[in-house]
Amino acid sequence: MLTGGRCTRCGFTGFPRAAVCLECGSESMESADIGSGGELFAESTVHMSNGRFPAGYSVGYVLFPSGIRVFGQIRAAGDHPPSMGSPMRVEIATLYEDDGKPIESFRFYPADAA
Ligand SMILES: [Zn+2]
Repeated sequence: MLTGGRCTRCGFTGFPRAAVCLECGSESMESADIGSGGELFAESTVHMSNGRFPAGYSVGYVLFPSGIRVFGQIRAAGDHPPSMGSPMRVEIATLYEDDGKPIESFRFYPADAA
């Protein structure tokens, strides 16, 4: 489950949670669960290492049922990237290490993968 932010004045909900509402400028924001998955909206395979991730990693946008699109890394499952519209889930994982310290964040994986 990802937690974003919802404006208590106008109801705008986004991810990540912002200090100020992007719609009306209100500073009255509260935490809001935005869901645990959605449909793959866009995907790209990165063929150069960025120093943290080896070449061949995937990133993309997942469209949540609420209409929020979230960008993140996509965990490979099988030889081919998931197709557009595939159901995707969120997981928390160690994405890389920084001076030996594990850096955890969310990423997506195909819902039909283990
Ligand atoms: Zn607002």
